[in-house]
Amino acid sequence: MSSSPTGSSLSYADRLSVLADVALPIWVFDIDKGIIDWANEPALLLWEADDLNELRSRNFFSDQSSRVAIKLEQLRDDFLNGRTSTEQYTIFPKGIPKSLTCRFSGIVLPDGRMAMLNQACGDTGSTQEKPENLRSLNALLHTSVQVSLYDLDGVPLHNNPAAYDAWPEHTKNLADHFVAKQDYVSALSQLAISRETQTVVEVHTSAGERWHEIDLRYTFDAVTGHPAILMSATDVTDRKIAQDKAAFLAFHDTLTGLPNRAQLLQKAPTLFAQIMARRQSATLIFVDLDRFKSINDTLGHMVGDELLIAFAERLRQATDTKDLLARLSGDEFIILTEEPQTAEQLESWINRLEGALNQPYDLSHHTVRCSVSMGLCRMPDNGTDINQLLQNADIAMYEAKRNRRGSFRVFSREMSSRFSRKFQLEKQLQTVLERDELELHYQPRLSLETGEIVGAEALLRWRHPEEGLISPADFIPLMEETGLILDVGEWVLKQACKSLASWQALDPNLTVSVNISGQQCLRPGAAERLLAIVDHANCHTDGLEFEITESVLLGDNPVVRGSFQAFHKAGIGLAVDDFGTGYSNLAYIQNYPISCIKIDRSFVGDQSKAAITELIISMSRILDVKIIAEGVETVDQHDWLKQRGCHEYQGFLFSPAVSGPEFEALIRTAYTPAQKIRIR
Ligand code: C2E
Ligand code: CA
Ligand code: CA
Repeated sequence: MSSSPTGSSLSYADRLSVLADVALPIWVFDIDKGIIDWANEPALLLWEADDLNELRSRNFFSDQSSRVAIKLEQLRDDFLNGRTSTEQYTIFPKGIPKSLTCRFSGIVLPDGRMAMLNQACGDTGSTQEKPENLRSLNALLHTSVQVSLYDLDGVPLHNNPAAYDAWPEHTKNLADHFVAKQDYVSALSQLAISRETQTVVEVHTSAGERWHEIDLRYTFDAVTGHPAILMSATDVTDRKIAQDKAAFLAFHDTLTGLPNRAQLLQKAPTLFAQIMARRQSATLIFVDLDRFKSINDTLGHMVGDELLIAFAERLRQATDTKDLLARLSGDEFIILTEEPQTAEQLESWINRLEGALNQPYDLSHHTVRCSVSMGLCRMPDNGTDINQLLQNADIAMYEAKRNRRGSFRVFSREMSSRFSRKFQLEKQLQTVLERDELELHYQPRLSLETGEIVGAEALLRWRHPEEGLISPADFIPLMEETGLILDVGEWVLKQACKSLASWQALDPNLTVSVNISGQQCLRPGAAERLLAIVDHANCHTDGLEFEITESVLLGDNPVVRGSFQAFHKAGIGLAVDDFGTGYSNLAYIQNYPISCIKIDRSFVGDQSKAAITELIISMSRILDVKIIAEGVETVDQHDWLKQRGCHEYQGFLFSPAVSGPEFEALIRTAYTPAQKIRIR
């Protein structure tokens, strides 16, 4: 580089007249128009032009690549800043390549625009002489890879057109490229160690902040022979974004944005090793939303998704940022925390968490209540392998769910053996209908006013060949998971109607209630299927009642509504089961033909809920719905309910569920007038 010739006070014409006499080829290139504006005689010869006019008529832009345009702009900037340069240059007069060493400088046209003055300092001869040299120069000119040379202080010595185009004007130093100083520091230290380094970093470019794959290596400046740094860079932003997205998707749950199972499995071993090294422990908590499936089924998947998102947010807020959260699947979440150390601390922490998670969720169209069941296990006490711990926490969660919804359990060895039983049962359950191992039992329902048996609730039992009678609490949820409940539910209805028909001969006013699972109501053609069974049994339908849980009523689902209207039309009563445990909202009574409310047994036995129970009873009376108390075990409970005007009760006070023949014996006794069974 040398000082500027543009500072010359000579006019364009004066300068040309001086240059015309020079023996070396000299020409003026109009950068904007892509034509040669002027050439001296040796240049005309070099270009193999007939005369100046013919040379002027040649358009150099017609087959020029975008890189050349950038290079020209770069040169023009250099000229404006008073810089000149000497470069290897290939021209193509009449299509034949000629290699030159050219000196480029600026010259101002009469109209004030900066043009390029080319002076061929020497013909380097035929392009055959140094073909590789020329080709590599040409490649450097045209490549999209940004190639720059810096001295050891990071001051730029050369930029190829792609680099010139990419780097913003203020880039005065290699360091200026890097968005994060740390990236620059580590790239340079890597360079110092291994003399070359590749890295993907965020850099400032004329198009904003972009991700570039950068290769830095030590080399020598070919002009001065001084050590230098050669940088080649490629924009990999699109690839980086795609990779980041793929990585995010692989390790996160798309719905809630929480880490997924894969991330948990990946991180846990390192995390556990660190915790063990510190001789500390961690708690793994398996969190499962109660009745999520029925919310999803009745309110729809959109509401289900919204609830999961809100739930995940609640989890984030209720836990510490140090805790590892993950969504395992559907409504199953994991918290891995190191926080509470003692059993007491853990318990109060869990209680706080439970309190936060159990608050109602205000979604866009619904307010949803959803309790959680949690299972806990400790690392390393209950294992150090994440899969083992997940299984143990799951077992504890399953216990929590089995015993009482909305609670937590801490894993124990005994649970583990109970759990293997669950798996065993699950397998055997599949063929339970074929093997004819199901039985229907009947729990008497009695009038609180007269003390007489007025009906029964049909309750399913599994007579297992080895284990004896198994409670439905152990297998109904499994049947619901597998969909087996659909066939079994229809079997139950068939049996119950058959019994009802035969008992109606003894007492025409007798009622038999049958538990109908939510899935049965949601099945397309639900009403037709169930009514066909009822029809077939020849019982009086006014003695039949269907018990359904509140969650089924919430969605205002047209299939459910249609079914219930059809049942109502057929004379079948509709009872809301387990009232008080879920939403306790009587609003849906307006939408559905409800004839009966069954107060859950957790209310009947609990003094602290007496006020609510009283309220439910009085409200039901106002709404003219029959009210039944479940799980009445003591005379006090019986009397209390009777005083409040509750209509019926069932419970161990009078009898648990008994077999069909036993129930028949009970009503036969009851209807022998002399032996009427009364409580007081
Ligand atoms: P549920 O409908 O709430 O049935 C009442 C449960 O309370 C029965 O449990 C009954 O045996 C129990 N129970 C009755 N009186 C008392 C009492 O005084 N004290 C106590 N502690 N418990 C009492 P069971 O038979 O184990 O049934 C459990 C649940 O399984 C039922 O709860 C019901 O949700 C479901 N279930 C039973 N049979 C069927 C069925 O045929 N179809 C469907 N879908 N679900 C069924
Ligand atoms: Ca029931
Ligand atoms: Ca119930």
